[in-house]
Amino acid sequence: MLFRQLFEPLSSTYTYLLACEHTGQAILVDPVVSAMDRDVALLRELGLRLAYTLDTHIHADHITSALELKRKLGSKIAAPAFDRLPCTDLPVEEGQAIELGELTLHPLHTPGHTDGHFAYRLEDRVLTGDALLIDGCGRTDFQNGSAEDLYNSVHQKLFTLPEDTLVYPGHDYQNRRVSTIAQEKNRNPRLGGQIELDEFKAIMAGLNLPYPKFIDHAVPGNRACGVCPGHLPEELQAYCQQINETPQG
Ligand code: FE
Repeated sequence: MLFRQLFEPLSSTYTYLLACEHTGQAILVDPVVSAMDRDVALLRELGLRLAYTLDTHIHADHITSALELKRKLGSKIAAPAFDRLPCTDLPVEEGQAIELGELTLHPLHTPGHTDGHFAYRLEDRVLTGDALLIDGCGRTDFQNGSAEDLYNSVHQKLFTLPEDTLVYPGHDYQNRRVSTIAQEKNRNPRLGGQIELDEFKAIMAGLNLPYPKFIDHAVPGNRACGVCPGHLPEELQAYCQQINETPQG
């Protein structure tokens, strides 16, 4: 398997490139529209054909490049069936593996950050999206989020994986890249150790996070598999423009 972790600096999103070295087929997980040119160049450089884009959830902080990549490269759009997006080509469900050459991804329904959120396990690792971040987790106060659901998803679906499973998160805001299930079980300050459900709910209720500045544009755009709004306020236009530099988290 060929594996690359790519960082998009505006929303601190990690995009994952997974590819089968035998067939040259690739999947991009959580690709970001503002980094599409970089991803297309990387696919070309590595001689890969993009078979699928795959999103973990309907994002509120960036726009997926699923639709643009489909137009440009002919890739199919894979996304959680739960969200019933008409633009989805491959509806993803738990219990139905995604197979591509030597790659086998196992979707895990992990609601809580959003109700339709999925993580994807493959080989020795799990792409946790925003369900489980390194020393953290995604917020639960929008998009049918639920602290109780997130607690149960993490404890029942992720913390039950083998302890040495590598954890690749959907974001990191402090340049961290990878963790393990054991590390998050031991020291995640929200979900690890002996923290119980009521304590987690209190932590999440007390975060006092600001209203997400891009959510009103991102969610409708992502429900259409990645459409940039026609008239973005100037301060938000960078979300739909190609990044020039590609700093790696
Ligand atoms: Fe998210």
